[in-house]
Amino acid sequence: MAPKHGLDSFKSEQEQLAKRAKSSATPTSRSATPADPGAKVPFEVKYPNMDESMKRSAAEQELAAHADWQVSPFVAKGALREGELDQHYTVVPHVEWESMKKYNNFIIQGEVYKNDQFVFVRGENTPKDKDTEGQPKDFWVARILQVRAKNAQNVYALIAWMYWPEELPPPGIKQKDMESRDSGKRTYHGGHELVASNYMEVLDVLSFAGKADVYHWLEEDDNLSHKLYWRQTFNRKTQALSKLREHCICGGYFNPEKTMFICDNTECKVWLHKECIIDDILSKTYSRLIEGESGTPDTKTNGIARTNGKKTKGKNRHKGLFTATIKDDGDGAPIAIIKDLRPGADPKTWEEAIKCPKCSTELQ
Ligand SMILES: [Zn+2]
Ligand SMILES: [Zn+2]
Repeated sequence: MAPKHGLDSFKSEQEQLAKRAKSSATPTSRSATPADPGAKVPFEVKYPNMDESMKRSAAEQELAAHADWQVSPFVAKGALREGELDQHYTVVPHVEWESMKKYNNFIIQGEVYKNDQFVFVRGENTPKDKDTEGQPKDFWVARILQVRAKNAQNVYALIAWMYWPEELPPPGIKQKDMESRDSGKRTYHGGHELVASNYMEVLDVLSFAGKADVYHWLEEDDNLSHKLYWRQTFNRKTQALSKLREHCICGGYFNPEKTMFICDNTECKVWLHKECIIDDILSKTYSRLIEGESGTPDTKTNGIARTNGKKTKGKNRHKGLFTATIKDDGDGAPIAIIKDLRPGADPKTWEEAIKCPKCSTELQ
């Protein structure tokens, strides 16, 4: 999905065009959201420069003079500081915006919407016949900050956007947990995960497709079922994601759709990635069977443990020699099944109890 309005501002036009060509079925901007494609929302959100010590144009000063302060409803657990996402904004044309009355709630098709509510928003490419039950990613998700109306036909909501991780722009510096080069989605992002932001927009409430149930997950449990949730924020000003709770021996994060194992030692209690446990098992197997007790390469395995006469080092030194899987049927301790791939190996396959890579306690 292409990033929505404003997110792409740091990239060249060419990059944007390339992206559009690649995914022509995705919206290029969330500005084009009204249910009636002909009815463009007449309001726009600007973020004025409030720094009086800077030289500002008359237009910039005018914007600043009419700015409001928005306290973000999103405070992530790993926020740099409280109020990180709070900001000044001005809706233009401001005279028209300010002249409209504010409402605390409104009704569309018999459903009452309130301030602070999460909503599904129909984009220009959202299939007309789609409801929000099946494929939530056909829709955008927003949180209502303020509602104003000119009359019963013209009701507008100031909203803060939530992003699907695939819509986030790739980080400026390459990160090892990126899923691909052209999006900000990370390997820890789950399929039902949204990222809260301080990108704001004014929408015609007729573009709303229903209420959304979005849970603020504090990463204290893994009891998420299939709810939509958010735990992280994306800051418009810094283009940075908020920090998450670090787990495992790798210091990585938790993708709630992937299994993690928890060490039962009450002193340790570390949450472990399956892949990290497997790496640890393979590395220990390598040390035991190839390097021997002394920790030096076993000469008998010369040519396997050595590549071009050099001792192989690093995480993947066991590659092509051993594989491991974890058997975990829910009851009882998980077991490692290790295969020795070397020709003539005996035994070829065996089972082992799994030890916590951090404290060496057996997993129960
Ligand atoms: Zn890990
Ligand atoms: Zn442990």
